[in-house]
Amino acid sequence: MPRHYQLKCQVCGSRFDDDGFTLECPHEHPPGLLAAEYFAREFKPDLASKGIFRYQSWLPALHEIGSVGSTVTFQSKQISRVLGLPNLWITFSGYWLEKGATLETATFKELEAYSVLSRLSPEHREVLVVASAGNTAAAFAHVCSQNQVPCLIIIPARGLARMEFLEALHPCVRVVSLTGLTDYSDAIAQADEVSRLDGFFAEGGVKNIGRRDGIGTTMLNAVETMGQLPDYYFQAIGSGAGGIAVHEAAKRLVDDGRFGQKMPHLMLSQNLPFVPIYQAWKSQRRELIKVNRDVGKKQTQQIVAEVLSNQRPPYSIKGGVFDVLMESQGNMLAADNSKALYATDFFQASEGVDIDPAAGVALATLKEAASTGQLDPEAVILLHVTGGGRNRRRLNHKLVPVKPTLELDAGEIGTKKALEKIVGLF
Ligand SMILES: [Zn+2]
Repeated sequence: MPRHYQLKCQVCGSRFDDDGFTLECPHEHPPGLLAAEYFAREFKPDLASKGIFRYQSWLPALHEIGSVGSTVTFQSKQISRVLGLPNLWITFSGYWLEKGATLETATFKELEAYSVLSRLSPEHREVLVVASAGNTAAAFAHVCSQNQVPCLIIIPARGLARMEFLEALHPCVRVVSLTGLTDYSDAIAQADEVSRLDGFFAEGGVKNIGRRDGIGTTMLNAVETMGQLPDYYFQAIGSGAGGIAVHEAAKRLVDDGRFGQKMPHLMLSQNLPFVPIYQAWKSQRRELIKVNRDVGKKQTQQIVAEVLSNQRPPYSIKGGVFDVLMESQGNMLAADNSKALYATDFFQASEGVDIDPAAGVALATLKEAASTGQLDPEAVILLHVTGGGRNRRRLNHKLVPVKPTLELDAGEIGTKKALEKIVGLF
Protein backbone atom coordinates (compact mmCIF):
# COMPACT_ATOMS: atom_id res chain seq x y z
CA MET A 1 0.00 0.00 0.00
CA PRO A 2 1.51 3.39 -0.91
CA ARG A 3 2.20 5.73 2.00
CA HIS A 4 1.80 9.50 2.18
CA TYR A 5 5.22 10.08 3.75
CA GLN A 6 8.82 8.91 3.80
CA LEU A 7 11.19 8.23 6.66
CA LYS A 8 14.13 10.58 7.11
CA CYS A 9 17.21 9.82 9.22
CA GLN A 10 18.13 12.79 11.39
CA VAL A 11 21.82 11.74 11.48
CA CYS A 12 22.76 11.03 7.84
CA GLY A 13 19.77 12.66 6.15
CA SER A 14 18.89 9.65 3.99
CA ARG A 15 15.26 9.08 3.06
CA PHE A 16 13.51 5.76 2.53
CA ASP A 17 10.11 4.09 2.37
CA ASP A 18 8.39 2.78 5.49
CA ASP A 19 7.32 -0.83 6.03
CA GLY A 20 5.38 -0.04 9.21
CA PHE A 21 7.99 -1.58 11.56
CA THR A 22 11.23 0.30 10.89
CA LEU A 23 12.72 1.93 14.00
CA GLU A 24 16.28 2.73 12.91
CA CYS A 25 18.28 3.94 9.94
CA PRO A 26 19.88 1.02 8.02
CA HIS A 27 23.19 2.93 7.64
CA GLU A 28 25.97 2.61 10.17
CA HIS A 29 26.49 5.69 12.32
CA PRO A 30 25.74 6.94 15.87
CA PRO A 31 22.09 6.43 16.85
CA GLY A 32 19.41 8.96 15.93
CA LEU A 33 15.64 9.14 15.68
CA LEU A 34 13.91 8.69 12.35
CA ALA A 35 11.27 11.27 11.49
CA ALA A 36 8.29 11.04 9.16
CA GLU A 37 8.34 13.53 6.29
CA TYR A 38 4.76 14.02 5.16
CA PHE A 39 4.09 15.03 1.57
CA ALA A 40 1.32 17.41 2.76
CA ARG A 41 2.92 20.64 3.96
CA GLU A 42 -0.34 22.35 4.91
CA PHE A 43 -2.14 21.66 8.21
CA LYS A 44 -5.52 20.45 7.10
CA PRO A 45 -7.69 18.54 9.57
CA ASP A 46 -9.91 15.93 7.93
CA LEU A 47 -13.29 16.89 9.32
CA ALA A 48 -14.92 13.63 8.25
CA SER A 49 -12.60 11.39 10.30
CA LYS A 50 -12.94 10.42 13.94
CA GLY A 51 -10.62 11.14 16.89
CA ILE A 52 -6.97 11.65 16.01
CA PHE A 53 -7.55 10.51 12.42
CA ARG A 54 -8.76 14.05 11.94
CA TYR A 55 -5.01 14.72 11.62
CA GLN A 56 -4.21 11.69 9.47
CA SER A 57 -2.30 13.59 6.78
CA TRP A 58 0.36 14.08 9.52
CA LEU A 59 0.09 10.59 10.99
CA PRO A 60 1.91 7.51 9.61
CA ALA A 61 -1.49 5.81 9.33
CA LEU A 62 -2.16 3.28 6.57
CA HIS A 63 -5.72 2.77 7.73
CA GLU A 64 -8.06 3.98 10.44
CA ILE A 65 -8.71 1.73 13.41
CA GLY A 66 -11.76 1.42 15.64
CA SER A 67 -12.64 2.92 19.05
CA VAL A 68 -10.54 6.08 18.70
CA GLY A 69 -10.91 9.00 21.08
CA SER A 70 -9.41 12.45 21.20
CA THR A 71 -8.03 15.18 23.43
CA VAL A 72 -9.63 18.57 23.98
CA THR A 73 -8.14 22.06 24.34
CA PHE A 74 -9.84 24.75 26.42
CA GLN A 75 -9.29 27.70 28.74
CA SER A 76 -10.00 27.65 32.48
CA LYS A 77 -11.11 30.99 33.93
CA GLN A 78 -10.30 29.89 37.46
CA ILE A 79 -6.81 28.49 36.76
CA SER A 80 -5.89 31.47 34.54
CA ARG A 81 -7.03 33.87 37.25
CA VAL A 82 -5.13 32.17 40.09
CA LEU A 83 -1.92 31.85 38.04
CA GLY A 84 -2.27 35.36 36.60
CA LEU A 85 -1.97 34.00 33.04
CA PRO A 86 -4.90 35.20 30.88
CA ASN A 87 -3.58 33.42 27.77
CA LEU A 88 -3.21 30.00 29.32
CA TRP A 89 -4.69 27.07 27.37
CA ILE A 90 -5.00 23.50 28.59
CA THR A 91 -4.86 20.40 26.41
CA PHE A 92 -6.55 17.61 28.32
CA SER A 93 -5.61 14.07 27.29
CA GLY A 94 -7.93 11.94 29.37
CA TYR A 95 -11.44 10.84 30.13
CA TRP A 96 -13.82 13.78 30.48
CA LEU A 97 -16.69 13.07 28.16
CA GLU A 98 -18.79 16.22 28.66
CA LYS A 99 -15.74 18.34 27.88
CA GLY A 100 -14.93 16.33 24.75
CA ALA A 101 -11.92 14.32 26.02
CA THR A 102 -12.70 10.73 25.09
CA LEU A 103 -9.62 8.65 25.85
CA GLU A 104 -10.95 5.46 27.44
CA THR A 105 -7.75 4.68 29.39
CA ALA A 106 -7.48 8.29 30.55
CA THR A 107 -3.98 9.24 29.32
CA PHE A 108 -2.24 10.50 26.18
CA LYS A 109 -0.66 7.07 25.77
CA GLU A 110 -3.83 6.00 24.00
CA LEU A 111 -3.00 8.43 21.18
CA GLU A 112 0.29 6.59 20.71
CA ALA A 113 -1.45 3.22 20.57
CA TYR A 114 -3.92 4.30 17.85
CA SER A 115 -1.12 5.69 15.75
CA VAL A 116 1.28 2.74 16.17
CA LEU A 117 -1.43 0.23 15.22
CA SER A 118 -2.63 2.22 12.24
CA ARG A 119 0.98 2.35 10.94
CA LEU A 120 1.06 -1.47 10.68
CA SER A 121 -0.28 -3.27 7.67
CA PRO A 122 -3.61 -4.89 8.61
CA GLU A 123 -2.20 -8.21 7.33
CA HIS A 124 0.71 -8.42 9.80
CA ARG A 125 0.53 -11.42 12.19
CA GLU A 126 3.51 -11.00 14.54
CA VAL A 127 3.01 -10.23 18.23
CA LEU A 128 3.52 -6.61 19.25
CA VAL A 129 5.72 -6.40 22.39
CA VAL A 130 5.14 -3.47 24.76
CA ALA A 131 7.07 -2.66 27.96
CA SER A 132 5.38 -0.18 30.23
CA ALA A 133 5.21 1.32 33.72
CA GLY A 134 1.41 1.30 33.49
CA ASN A 135 -0.30 3.83 31.25
CA THR A 136 1.19 2.63 27.97
CA ALA A 137 0.27 -0.93 28.95
CA ALA A 138 -3.33 0.07 29.61
CA ALA A 139 -3.52 2.01 26.34
CA PHE A 140 -2.08 -0.75 24.13
CA ALA A 141 -4.02 -3.49 25.92
CA HIS A 142 -7.28 -1.61 25.36
CA VAL A 143 -6.68 -0.61 21.75
CA CYS A 144 -5.20 -4.01 20.74
CA SER A 145 -8.12 -5.78 22.43
CA GLN A 146 -10.67 -3.60 20.64
CA ASN A 147 -8.98 -4.18 17.29
CA GLN A 148 -7.89 -7.79 17.93
CA VAL A 149 -4.19 -7.19 17.34
CA PRO A 150 -1.92 -9.81 19.03
CA CYS A 151 -0.01 -8.09 21.82
CA LEU A 152 2.32 -8.95 24.73
CA ILE A 153 2.40 -6.48 27.62
CA ILE A 154 5.27 -6.59 30.14
CA ILE A 155 4.65 -4.49 33.22
CA PRO A 156 6.02 -4.15 36.79
CA ALA A 157 3.31 -5.34 39.21
CA ARG A 158 3.01 -1.83 40.64
CA GLY A 159 1.54 -0.66 37.34
CA LEU A 160 -1.25 -3.26 37.28
CA ALA A 161 -3.60 -0.95 39.19
CA ARG A 162 -3.92 1.07 35.97
CA MET A 163 -5.08 -1.97 34.03
CA GLU A 164 -8.85 -1.96 34.43
CA PHE A 165 -11.35 -1.85 31.61
CA LEU A 166 -15.04 -1.72 30.80
CA GLU A 167 -14.89 -5.37 29.73
CA ALA A 168 -12.43 -8.27 29.92
CA LEU A 169 -9.56 -8.05 27.41
CA HIS A 170 -9.68 -10.12 24.23
CA PRO A 171 -7.38 -13.19 24.59
CA CYS A 172 -5.11 -11.82 21.83
CA VAL A 173 -3.65 -9.59 24.60
CA ARG A 174 -1.37 -11.34 27.13
CA VAL A 175 -0.08 -9.57 30.24
CA VAL A 176 3.16 -10.52 32.02
CA SER A 177 3.58 -8.96 35.46
CA LEU A 178 7.01 -8.53 37.09
CA THR A 179 6.89 -9.00 40.87
CA GLY A 180 9.33 -8.09 43.67
CA LEU A 181 11.57 -5.02 43.49
CA THR A 182 11.13 -4.44 39.77
CA ASP A 183 10.58 -1.32 37.73
CA TYR A 184 10.15 -0.06 34.19
CA SER A 185 13.78 -0.79 33.26
CA ASP A 186 13.24 -4.51 34.04
CA ALA A 187 10.17 -4.52 31.81
CA ILE A 188 12.19 -2.93 29.00
CA ALA A 189 15.03 -5.46 29.39
CA GLN A 190 12.65 -8.45 29.27
CA ALA A 191 10.70 -6.99 26.34
CA ASP A 192 13.96 -6.47 24.39
CA GLU A 193 14.77 -10.17 24.71
CA VAL A 194 11.35 -11.36 23.61
CA SER A 195 11.10 -9.01 20.67
CA ARG A 196 14.29 -10.46 19.15
CA LEU A 197 12.51 -13.82 18.69
CA ASP A 198 10.73 -14.84 15.50
CA GLY A 199 7.05 -14.00 15.56
CA PHE A 200 7.49 -11.00 17.90
CA PHE A 201 8.41 -7.38 17.21
CA ALA A 202 9.27 -4.41 19.40
CA GLU A 203 6.83 -1.57 19.53
CA GLY A 204 9.95 0.58 19.88
CA GLY A 205 8.93 3.37 22.25
CA VAL A 206 10.26 6.77 21.28
CA LYS A 207 11.92 5.30 18.16
CA ASN A 208 8.53 4.51 16.67
CA ILE A 209 7.36 7.45 14.54
CA GLY A 210 3.82 6.21 15.17
CA ARG A 211 4.23 6.83 18.87
CA ARG A 212 5.65 10.31 18.47
CA ASP A 213 3.29 11.54 15.78
CA GLY A 214 0.37 10.11 17.77
CA ILE A 215 1.32 12.31 20.75
CA GLY A 216 2.09 15.14 18.37
CA THR A 217 -1.64 15.36 17.63
CA THR A 218 -2.03 17.06 21.04
CA MET A 219 -0.17 20.07 19.61
CA LEU A 220 -2.27 19.87 16.44
CA ASN A 221 -5.46 19.79 18.49
CA ALA A 222 -4.27 22.78 20.51
CA VAL A 223 -3.32 24.86 17.48
CA GLU A 224 -6.54 23.98 15.67
CA THR A 225 -8.40 25.36 18.73
CA MET A 226 -6.11 28.32 19.53
CA GLY A 227 -5.42 29.37 15.94
CA GLN A 228 -1.72 29.88 16.71
CA LEU A 229 1.33 28.19 18.19
CA PRO A 230 1.88 28.78 21.94
CA ASP A 231 4.94 30.66 23.21
CA TYR A 232 5.50 28.06 25.95
CA TYR A 233 4.57 24.39 26.28
CA PHE A 234 4.48 22.72 29.74
CA GLN A 235 4.53 18.95 30.21
CA ALA A 236 5.91 16.39 32.69
CA ILE A 237 8.19 13.77 31.13
CA GLY A 238 9.46 10.27 31.87
CA SER A 239 11.11 9.33 28.57
CA GLY A 240 10.56 12.74 27.03
CA ALA A 241 8.84 11.26 23.99
CA GLY A 242 5.97 13.72 24.49
CA GLY A 243 8.31 16.71 24.43
CA ILE A 244 10.09 15.44 21.31
CA ALA A 245 6.76 14.70 19.62
CA VAL A 246 5.15 18.10 20.16
CA HIS A 247 8.37 19.76 19.00
CA GLU A 248 8.23 17.79 15.75
CA ALA A 249 4.55 18.69 15.31
CA ALA A 250 5.33 22.37 16.01
CA LYS A 251 8.03 22.29 13.29
CA ARG A 252 5.42 21.15 10.76
CA LEU A 253 3.10 23.94 11.86
CA VAL A 254 5.87 26.55 11.56
CA ASP A 255 6.58 25.14 8.11
CA ASP A 256 2.91 25.67 7.18
CA GLY A 257 3.46 29.36 7.93
CA ARG A 258 0.00 30.40 9.17
CA PHE A 259 0.41 29.74 12.90
CA GLY A 260 3.56 31.62 13.86
CA GLN A 261 7.25 31.44 13.03
CA LYS A 262 8.66 30.72 16.49
CA MET A 263 9.00 27.28 18.00
CA PRO A 264 7.28 27.01 21.42
CA HIS A 265 9.76 26.90 24.32
CA LEU A 266 9.53 23.41 25.79
CA MET A 267 9.17 23.62 29.59
CA LEU A 268 9.48 19.98 30.60
CA SER A 269 9.36 18.67 34.14
CA GLN A 270 10.18 15.72 36.38
CA ASN A 271 9.18 14.56 39.84
CA LEU A 272 11.75 14.95 42.66
CA PRO A 273 13.71 13.00 43.82
CA PHE A 274 13.88 11.06 40.51
CA VAL A 275 14.96 13.70 37.98
CA PRO A 276 17.68 12.31 35.63
CA ILE A 277 16.86 14.58 32.69
CA TYR A 278 16.54 17.66 34.90
CA GLN A 279 19.96 16.94 36.44
CA ALA A 280 21.71 16.42 33.12
CA TRP A 281 20.16 19.56 31.60
CA LYS A 282 21.02 21.72 34.62
CA SER A 283 24.61 20.47 34.44
CA GLN A 284 24.62 21.56 30.79
CA ARG A 285 25.47 18.06 29.65
CA ARG A 286 24.41 16.11 26.60
CA GLU A 287 24.90 12.85 28.52
CA LEU A 288 22.82 11.64 31.43
CA ILE A 289 24.64 11.51 34.75
CA LYS A 290 25.25 7.87 35.64
CA VAL A 291 23.24 6.80 38.66
CA ASN A 292 23.63 3.41 40.30
CA ARG A 293 20.67 1.36 39.04
CA ASP A 294 19.56 0.37 42.57
CA VAL A 295 19.71 4.00 43.74
CA GLY A 296 17.64 4.96 40.69
CA LYS A 297 15.19 2.16 41.46
CA LYS A 298 14.77 3.36 45.05
CA GLN A 299 14.15 6.90 43.84
CA THR A 300 11.53 5.72 41.37
CA GLN A 301 9.69 4.04 44.27
CA GLN A 302 9.54 7.41 46.06
CA ILE A 303 7.86 9.54 43.41
CA VAL A 304 4.13 10.03 43.35
CA ALA A 305 4.08 10.29 39.53
CA GLU A 306 5.46 6.79 39.00
CA VAL A 307 4.88 6.98 35.25
CA LEU A 308 7.81 9.42 35.13
CA SER A 309 10.26 6.70 36.16
CA ASN A 310 12.25 6.03 32.97
CA GLN A 311 15.90 5.29 33.83
CA ARG A 312 17.05 5.28 30.19
CA PRO A 313 15.31 8.21 28.53
CA PRO A 314 16.30 9.17 24.95
CA TYR A 315 18.12 12.29 26.09
CA SER A 316 21.46 12.25 24.24
CA ILE A 317 20.35 10.60 20.98
CA LYS A 318 20.24 12.81 17.87
CA GLY A 319 16.75 14.33 17.73
CA GLY A 320 16.19 13.44 21.41
CA VAL A 321 15.33 15.47 24.49
CA PHE A 322 18.61 17.42 24.66
CA ASP A 323 18.27 18.52 21.03
CA VAL A 324 14.63 19.61 21.31
CA LEU A 325 15.35 21.57 24.50
CA MET A 326 18.22 23.33 22.72
CA GLU A 327 16.28 24.00 19.52
CA SER A 328 13.25 25.35 21.35
CA GLN A 329 15.32 27.31 23.88
CA GLY A 330 13.42 25.41 26.51
CA ASN A 331 14.12 24.44 30.08
CA MET A 332 13.85 21.58 32.56
CA LEU A 333 11.86 22.08 35.77
CA ALA A 334 11.11 19.89 38.79
CA ALA A 335 8.46 19.54 41.48
CA ASP A 336 8.36 17.37 44.59
CA ASN A 337 5.47 15.12 45.62
CA SER A 338 3.72 17.61 47.88
CA LYS A 339 3.71 20.36 45.23
CA ALA A 340 2.49 17.93 42.59
CA LEU A 341 -0.36 16.70 44.79
CA TYR A 342 -1.29 20.22 45.79
CA ALA A 343 -1.54 21.08 42.09
CA THR A 344 -3.77 18.07 41.33
CA ASP A 345 -6.11 19.17 44.15
CA PHE A 346 -6.12 22.72 42.77
CA PHE A 347 -7.08 21.47 39.30
CA GLN A 348 -9.86 19.29 40.68
CA ALA A 349 -11.23 22.15 42.78
CA SER A 350 -11.12 24.49 39.76
CA GLU A 351 -12.47 22.22 37.03
CA GLY A 352 -14.24 19.40 38.85
CA VAL A 353 -12.17 16.60 37.33
CA ASP A 354 -9.23 14.63 38.74
CA ILE A 355 -5.84 14.72 37.03
CA ASP A 356 -2.91 12.30 37.31
CA PRO A 357 0.07 13.14 39.55
CA ALA A 358 2.26 13.54 36.44
CA ALA A 359 -0.02 16.33 35.22
CA GLY A 360 0.19 17.74 38.75
CA VAL A 361 3.98 17.93 38.35
CA ALA A 362 3.58 19.97 35.15
CA LEU A 363 0.99 22.27 36.69
CA ALA A 364 3.12 22.78 39.83
CA THR A 365 6.11 23.84 37.73
CA LEU A 366 3.92 26.19 35.66
CA LYS A 367 2.59 27.76 38.86
CA GLU A 368 6.11 28.26 40.17
CA ALA A 369 7.40 29.69 36.87
CA ALA A 370 4.46 32.14 36.80
CA SER A 371 4.85 33.24 40.42
CA THR A 372 8.62 33.77 40.18
CA GLY A 373 8.44 36.02 37.13
CA GLN A 374 9.94 33.52 34.67
CA LEU A 375 7.02 34.04 32.25
CA ASP A 376 5.68 37.12 30.53
CA PRO A 377 2.11 37.26 31.91
CA GLU A 378 0.79 37.99 28.41
CA ALA A 379 2.54 34.98 26.87
CA VAL A 380 0.42 32.30 25.20
CA ILE A 381 0.97 29.18 27.26
CA LEU A 382 -0.09 25.61 26.66
CA LEU A 383 -0.27 23.13 29.55
CA HIS A 384 -0.60 19.49 28.57
CA VAL A 385 -2.56 17.51 31.13
CA THR A 386 -1.24 14.11 30.06
CA GLY A 387 -3.72 12.08 32.12
CA GLY A 388 -6.97 12.77 33.90
CA GLY A 389 -10.49 11.63 34.63
CA ARG A 390 -9.39 8.25 35.98
CA ASN A 391 -11.49 8.55 39.15
CA ARG A 392 -14.44 9.91 37.21
CA ARG A 393 -14.29 6.85 34.94
CA ARG A 394 -14.20 4.59 38.01
CA LEU A 395 -17.25 6.28 39.44
CA ASN A 396 -19.19 6.04 36.18
CA HIS A 397 -18.45 2.40 35.38
CA LYS A 398 -17.90 -0.93 36.97
CA LEU A 399 -14.40 -1.73 35.75
CA VAL A 400 -12.84 -5.16 35.28
CA PRO A 401 -9.26 -5.44 36.67
CA VAL A 402 -6.76 -7.36 34.56
CA LYS A 403 -5.43 -10.64 35.85
CA PRO A 404 -1.88 -11.18 34.58
CA THR A 405 -1.48 -14.18 32.29
CA LEU A 406 1.96 -14.83 33.80
CA GLU A 407 3.94 -13.56 36.80
CA LEU A 408 7.73 -13.40 36.80
CA ASP A 409 9.74 -12.79 39.96
CA ALA A 410 12.67 -10.30 39.91
CA GLY A 411 15.13 -13.25 39.96
CA GLU A 412 13.57 -14.91 36.90
CA ILE A 413 13.75 -11.89 34.60
CA GLY A 414 16.08 -12.42 31.67
CA THR A 415 16.46 -16.18 32.21
CA LYS A 416 15.95 -18.79 29.50
CA LYS A 417 13.08 -20.26 31.48
CA ALA A 418 11.30 -16.91 31.61
CA LEU A 419 11.63 -16.57 27.86
CA GLU A 420 10.20 -20.05 27.31
CA LYS A 421 7.25 -19.28 29.56
CA ILE A 422 6.47 -16.08 27.66
CA VAL A 423 6.71 -17.73 24.24
CA GLY A 424 4.39 -20.46 25.53
CA LEU A 425 1.64 -17.88 26.04
CA PHE A 426 1.06 -17.58 22.29
ZN1 LIG B 1 21.09 7.46 8.82
